[in-house]
Amino acid sequence: MTDTPDPADGDLVSPPDRDAEIPDDVLAAVKTLIRWTGDDPAREGLVDTPGRVARAWKEYCQGYEEDPGTHLSRIFEEVGGYDEIVLLRDIPFQSHCEHHMAPIIGKAHIAYLPENYVVGISKLARVLHGFARRLQVQERLTAEVADCIWEKLQPRGVAVVIEASHACMTARGVRTPGVTMTTSRMMGVFRDDERSRKEVLTLMGVAKG
Ligand SMILES: [Zn+2]
Repeated sequence: MTDTPDPADGDLVSPPDRDAEIPDDVLAAVKTLIRWTGDDPAREGLVDTPGRVARAWKEYCQGYEEDPGTHLSRIFEEVGGYDEIVLLRDIPFQSHCEHHMAPIIGKAHIAYLPENYVVGISKLARVLHGFARRLQVQERLTAEVADCIWEKLQPRGVAVVIEASHACMTARGVRTPGVTMTTSRMMGVFRDDERSRKEVLTLMGVAKG
């Protein structure tokens, strides 16, 4: 035993009354799962676990409480003649797969070619997190981010590429650590014009050859 708190378990010594706002059936469900997988939910190290798990899942799934599109509602009409690609690269994110509720950990590259509107660049990451903090499949996450930007900014093109590893594949099942899945959605000029698509993929660092 050590007294040094693990920063990853910041709420490890949480008082039990923090569980007051968590419905009983939620706590019971976690206890049932612990028992079913082979441990004793009444064991000292596990007594506060249902509450921690419940709070953690509320946080993982925070995206349900927001409409990610609202992050793009403050747009700037003055683009100052800028007509080149705007790109946010290597945005780290975490999500959970809807099939196993296992972590999806990866990075996204989000680009658009402005027509009349631009947006604060950090907003693109907020849109990503708004959709990622839900139960997801990577293909849908990619499409939702791209569609949202397409609809709100009405740009000439949108490109979203997501590279992620799925714990349901790397930690269970076929157990293939290091394998990542890549999904992409190209819209407008990035879909229709091969040169523009190549350019954006090169800027993202994901172009082949
Ligand atoms: Zn899965």
